[in-house]
Amino acid sequence: MESVLIVGAGMFGLTTAIELRRRGYSVTVLDPGPLPHPLAASNDTSRMVRMDYGDDALYVELAGKAIEGWRVWNQQSGRTLYHEDGFLMACSQPMAPGEFEHDSYQYLSKQGYDLQRMDSGRIKQQYPLWNGDRYKDGYLNPAAGWAEAANTVIWLAEEAQASGVELRLDTQVSGFIEADNRITGVITSGGYRESAELVVVAAGAWTAALLPDLAEVMQPVGQPIVYLQPVDPDLYRGPQFPPWAADIPRTGWYGFPANRDGIVKISNHGPGRPMTTEEPRDLNAAEVSRFNSFIKDTIPSLAEAPIVNSRLCLYCDTWDGNFWIGHHPNKGGLVVAAGGSGHGFKFAPVMGGLIADAIEKVDTPYAERFAWRPKGEATAEAIRYTGE
Ligand SMILES: Cc1cc2nc3c(=O)[nH]c(=O)nc-3n(C[C@H](O)[C@H](O)[C@H](O)COP(=O)(O)OP(=O)(O)OC[C@H]3O[C@@H](n4cnc5c(N)ncnc54)[C@H](O)[C@@H]3O)c2cc1C
Repeated sequence: MESVLIVGAGMFGLTTAIELRRRGYSVTVLDPGPLPHPLAASNDTSRMVRMDYGDDALYVELAGKAIEGWRVWNQQSGRTLYHEDGFLMACSQPMAPGEFEHDSYQYLSKQGYDLQRMDSGRIKQQYPLWNGDRYKDGYLNPAAGWAEAANTVIWLAEEAQASGVELRLDTQVSGFIEADNRITGVITSGGYRESAELVVVAAGAWTAALLPDLAEVMQPVGQPIVYLQPVDPDLYRGPQFPPWAADIPRTGWYGFPANRDGIVKISNHGPGRPMTTEEPRDLNAAEVSRFNSFIKDTIPSLAEAPIVNSRLCLYCDTWDGNFWIGHHPNKGGLVVAAGGSGHGFKFAPVMGGLIADAIEKVDTPYAERFAWRPKGEATAEAIRYTGE
């Protein structure tokens, strides 16, 4: 049985561990812990799950499979890890061909998905907390929702252990054992050496710190999140207040219904702040002020809710916004599975399969998109608004 060491117990690492174990490998996962790691991207209250990807057939199809997988995981786990509350794409201007919202609407409609087109009147009637004077177009996709990210990681760790994966949550990897252009194991920060036939680096935003050659093609970028506590959280629960995006390709704004603790989360998928994994994760005054004015204009009743928490969360952004899953071209025994680029979590139910296929060099439509690749022109998934 081939032995595999996986560096990182985020969503990428744990789903890979479970799938490789299922395929008969002997698997050990190393992470400094605790799980979910407090600074990991997979550690949060919520992550958007949607198949709206413009006219990008590959991601739409993959997200469709992932949504089916989330429904199965809810049953398998006996927990509501995924809330199918829909996804509201709100636009302050009419949707226009060539733009993300319009192309997503057209593409999914052609695929037979039953989307509800919005206008001011419909937004006011169906989503009265929204400023329907400002938002005039868009649509609701009912086949979407949000995932409880931290709780999913906890469940995945339990599943991994139950299937025979060894989880070592006191172990930080600091380097690799290398001979003749082949990686044969890892060195831990305590100086301990551990050998394996294959090493998979799934260290999210820390990946390029471990493998500096990758700094050219992926980098950690801090993205702001605020958590609000409305007086009556029931007003903000899905599906009457679904996960949403507001002019997202032009502003980056998106958010979620109240979670179990009555907390409403708003975030920005924008250019973010290039930073190291060590820097403080605090929002600055200008960032908080942008949130406040957006909230006042868009969901005015939330402007009265206090911000009870805020932070920067690190994307591991690749140059083209696509994941980075593949064998190192020049070093045997090393696979990288990272580059979530701010949109990886929704794919959790299919991610282990994608990564295991890449490890086994199975030819799939995804292998080429996510493989090791030279830096080139940015694709649609990497293009974000660049400030207001
Ligand atoms: C603010 C924000 C919002 C997002 N929103 C969405 C969304 O709405 N929908 C969506 O689909 N996706 C979203 N994403 C993206 C998604 O969360 C990520 O793609 C996914 O969680 C990445 O998982 P990962 O396992 O690659 O990384 P991580 O979850 O960061 O895990 C990396 C792990 O590696 C470990 N590690 C690091 N260094 C070492 C080392 N030296 N040795 C051992 N272990 C190490 C860490 O402790 C950590 O546990 C968002 C991300 C962020 C930051």
